Amino acid sequence: MSTLAARARIARAPARAPRRARRAPARAMRARAALGESLSAHLASASARGDIDADLAIALNSVAIACKRVRALVARAPIAGNTGAAGGSNASGDEQKKLDVIANDVFVETLRACGRASVIVTEEEDTPIAVERASGYIVTFDPIDGSSNIDACVTTGSIFGVYAPGACEIKDTDSAEETLANCLTNSLQSGEALVAAGYCMYSSSCVFVLTTGDGVAQYDFDENVGEFVCSKERVTIPDGDKMQRIYSGNNGNVNLWAPELKDYVAHLQKGGSDGGKPWTYRYIGALIGDFHRTLLYGGIWLYPPDTSAPNGKARLLYEIAPISMIAEQAGGMSTRGPKANESVLDVVPKHIHEKSPMFVGSKSAVQDLQEFLKKY
Ligand code: MN
Ligand code: MN
Repeated sequence: MSTLAARARIARAPARAPRRARRAPARAMRARAALGESLSAHLASASARGDIDADLAIALNSVAIACKRVRALVARAPIAGNTGAAGGSNASGDEQKKLDVIANDVFVETLRACGRASVIVTEEEDTPIAVERASGYIVTFDPIDGSSNIDACVTTGSIFGVYAPGACEIKDTDSAEETLANCLTNSLQSGEALVAAGYCMYSSSCVFVLTTGDGVAQYDFDENVGEFVCSKERVTIPDGDKMQRIYSGNNGNVNLWAPELKDYVAHLQKGGSDGGKPWTYRYIGALIGDFHRTLLYGGIWLYPPDTSAPNGKARLLYEIAPISMIAEQAGGMSTRGPKANESVLDVVPKHIHEKSPMFVGSKSAVQDLQEFLKKY
């Protein structure tokens, strides 16, 4: 019998059928990185298998390269004289640090060079950036989150979102105004359009967290090989007995919050709904630092509106929506609204720097907040 015929026979043999049937979930599992696998190897193999779109893999690789570059810049900032203010402010009115401007250039140039992003939205630029390419992903980022921490060498990060390519095309024949209008239309998407989200945290370790809609994986930067290496294949926000009872948020603003949220904080300080020990308070003041701890330890992070910032201070497109996608992919919960029962991912921003409040963390902790607020 020829080899081909033998293969055909094996393929037709009834004994094979149950084994093929069992392969479907195994294949879905393979969309995730394996422990010890490098991010670049994982993206290449997931793309080769068709588990993620090849252009998305290239865009994500470029984001990772930008993060490696920014990591080196953050680490050397005091030596290189890159601490302190740059002398300007961004669209949200934040004072720009030197490293905000440098890291923004790194991200924009790296993404432009990869040729897979048609529109780039960044915290540091007033309008979206059109890249001369007919179609591609919309990539949003906060090049340095927590930049006020840089001078003190406290945790910072980069946050990114990759949104599905927009419906309208950017054509060579369009004027600058038409291109900008197209870019804006493409950019204003809800979190439901995210195909990938993640962040890189620059702290005692450099950590890259990524979801492409199939759970969340963590990669740690290995300086010896210059790669992000998978350290956690599937990150889930601890809940129940495994959850650490930690709440976070800017406690200095608690008197500017809605009275019921102030009551909620007092409730946690008295032991919360299960009447246990008082909840622990932790606050770094860098979105990524506080979220990463919440992702790994559990608990709740409160970013409500206050009387001075009626929509909070964090931006939807490149901070809140990507974090919400990661939280939900990690089995946690992310909500907003006066009763903490509105979806963050449903919100379609009206402008690219639109802000949103958020309550995020372990599912049971967010649900407990919702229950608490029902009384008001
Ligand atoms: Mn930020
Ligand atoms: Mn920033």
